[in-house]
Amino acid sequence: GSLPGWHRVEELVRKAHARNLAHDEGVVASYIPVLAHADPERFGLCVAEADGPVHAVGDSDLEFSVQSISKAFVFALVCQAWGREVVSDRVGVNNTGLAFNSVMALELNDGHPMNPMVNAGALATTALMPGESFAEQWENLRSGLSRFAGRQLELDGEVFRSESATNTRNKAIARLLQSYGHLELDPLGVVDVYTRQCALRVSARDLAVMGATLADGGVNPVTGDQVVSGQVCQDTLAVLASTGMYERSGRWLFEIGLPAKSGVSGGIVAIAPGKGAIGTYSARLDRAGNSVRGQRATAHLSRALGLNVFASS
Ligand code: GLN
Repeated sequence: GSLPGWHRVEELVRKAHARNLAHDEGVVASYIPVLAHADPERFGLCVAEADGPVHAVGDSDLEFSVQSISKAFVFALVCQAWGREVVSDRVGVNNTGLAFNSVMALELNDGHPMNPMVNAGALATTALMPGESFAEQWENLRSGLSRFAGRQLELDGEVFRSESATNTRNKAIARLLQSYGHLELDPLGVVDVYTRQCALRVSARDLAVMGATLADGGVNPVTGDQVVSGQVCQDTLAVLASTGMYERSGRWLFEIGLPAKSGVSGGIVAIAPGKGAIGTYSARLDRAGNSVRGQRATAHLSRALGLNVFASS
């Protein structure tokens, strides 16, 4: 990688954490009831370098449900299984400019989901996971995401049950996909697998390692495991650049210049191709559903480490 030396990166990660610790803007998500119990003071920040070193500060080992960040890695697994053409045809790779739970995201293009990083397209993507049954799809999904993290990820049963009991909107989106002929499987079964994928427990450290795997041509820099191909990483990062931060994706790319993905529990992963990734956790969100401290700390590090992919000087 072309990051500065170990001590310099360590110092910058500590500084980015310390500088943003006092920020308390934003609101903890509550539409999934159990997420409202998250401690808003917790703040984890971790950088994983593409050649192995990991810099973890603050609450980097605190676990939370991965939520929408799973969409990025499930997309990669599905691209690996079926190829980029199939996935871009069946799901699409465009930004809808709409909120993650938008029903309009589906109505824009005759029911074609268009964007794998909002719920409509993510449900269509999850339905493409290899497996003969929903149980097998779930096992493949969990083991695939675990390979990205380099450890066995566990389901948060409480988050899964809380979301399952309240996710009428996702069930409606899945039905709508079915009505347009874009879902061949039982919609409620697909929603169940999707809800499980969102309830997998990760830490900021896991997010950094998962992102660094995408930054490293699909090779997990900690375990050495080749999880997906280099082509799949390139395709996934292109999609994240345009859609990873919901309707704020353009602003994010303009300010920070890195492909990234956020989730409503407060995680963000930002990927610097060939260099590494930043994983953050802090539960207070802006109105699009992106962690406020996470965005600030990532912006700080992107600047300090010279990670902006558009910078040429
Ligand atoms: N499980 C959440 C949902 O479907 C994920 C949303 C998110 O993280 N933006 O509503």
